[in-house]
Amino acid sequence: MKILLTGGAGFIGSHTATVLIEKGYEIVILDDFSNSKPGAVARLEQIVGREIALEHVDLCEKTAVEDVFSRHKIDCVLHFAGLKAVGESVEKPLLYYENNLVGTLNLLHVMADMGVKKFVFSSSATVYDSRNPVPFMEEHSIGPVNPYGWTKSMIEQILLDLSASDPEWAVTLLRYFNPIGAHPSGLIGEDPQGIPNNLVPYVAKVAAGQLATIHIWGDDYDTPDGTGVRDYIHVMDLARGHLLAVEYLKTHKGCKVFNLGTGKGYSVKEVISAYEKACGKSLPAQIDARRAGDLATVYANVDLAEKELGFTAELGIEQMCADSWNWQKKSLVFDE
Ligand code: NAD
Ligand code: UDP
Repeated sequence: MKILLTGGAGFIGSHTATVLIEKGYEIVILDDFSNSKPGAVARLEQIVGREIALEHVDLCEKTAVEDVFSRHKIDCVLHFAGLKAVGESVEKPLLYYENNLVGTLNLLHVMADMGVKKFVFSSSATVYDSRNPVPFMEEHSIGPVNPYGWTKSMIEQILLDLSASDPEWAVTLLRYFNPIGAHPSGLIGEDPQGIPNNLVPYVAKVAAGQLATIHIWGDDYDTPDGTGVRDYIHVMDLARGHLLAVEYLKTHKGCKVFNLGTGKGYSVKEVISAYEKACGKSLPAQIDARRAGDLATVYANVDLAEKELGFTAELGIEQMCADSWNWQKKSLVFDE
């Protein structure tokens, strides 16, 4: 089975590639390198010990996408490609709607034309209406609050409608919670451009001495220590979730949504202390005002993924921080 990974040079796609190759799948990576570097694919090749087919293509260029499908006999697509920075999506909504929606529509058109109808979509916990009680469940209502989240829920709707129109489609919508950590080799990991928005990449840069102080956005939430609680999941567990989704699609048609998280929440302070343990030093941190739009507590109900996909996250917060730190230290020398 040959699997196309759009956005496969990025954080989650590259880790998923290692798991698929290890299981014997053939893969093709398609990426425009708008938020990743070709060097990540070279290091991925080092991990798996073989060459990987790489297509430098922007999904918004439909003829280039057609060309990829005409040269490779693709059986299944994992669609990671997309822009993902919430703040940037508020400032540049047209860029986000254009890239994420046009890119996905081009991909789906080409797939339909070529008769390739197995599809795994990278969705997000951000699609949930924040008024739902935690833990979030797949049947809870949708209510994104920013353009990024809207692109995810619009694409989910497109895929639901497409599957309803043609029973040959087999689609899973994977709603990720907070992926962190890195491959145990330390050769690939999350590589944000500029100052990170997310907690763990920021903490990693403070640990590496590249940023001065961690800013804790609010310690007056209704949580045990007052700081925000999230469902962090190791990226290698998440990668394994994709493998299980691919296997699920072999026997299940239609469109099915799954949360991918651990079902457990950790506070900002708990994450920082796990990171301090991983890097062996205490990290400077200060309390600042709450970040606009943040919720106190978000975590997943993971029963459905466990029951239908056989997925359970195995790696805890200590391993997530240890692998993040291992990558952070090594990544300082990678510049491509
Ligand atoms: P990433 O930015 O590391 O990877 C995405 C990749 O897609 C990048 O390599 C980028 O260059 C590529 N890309 C973007 N637009 C493209 C286009 N038009 N054509 C071709 N390639 C394009 O992000 P990630 O963290 O690996 O996330 C993967 C997917 O998972 C994204 O769709 C993201 O929205 C979703 N997601 C991520 C998180 C998270 O916290 N990382 C959480 C929920 C959902
Ligand atoms: N957070 C923080 N400082 C940062 C980045 C994030 O205190 O520099 C907090 C944020 O308020 C939230 C948690 O860390 O409670 C996770 O934030 P992140 O942006 O990583 O994930 P998201 O909020 O999108 O789930």
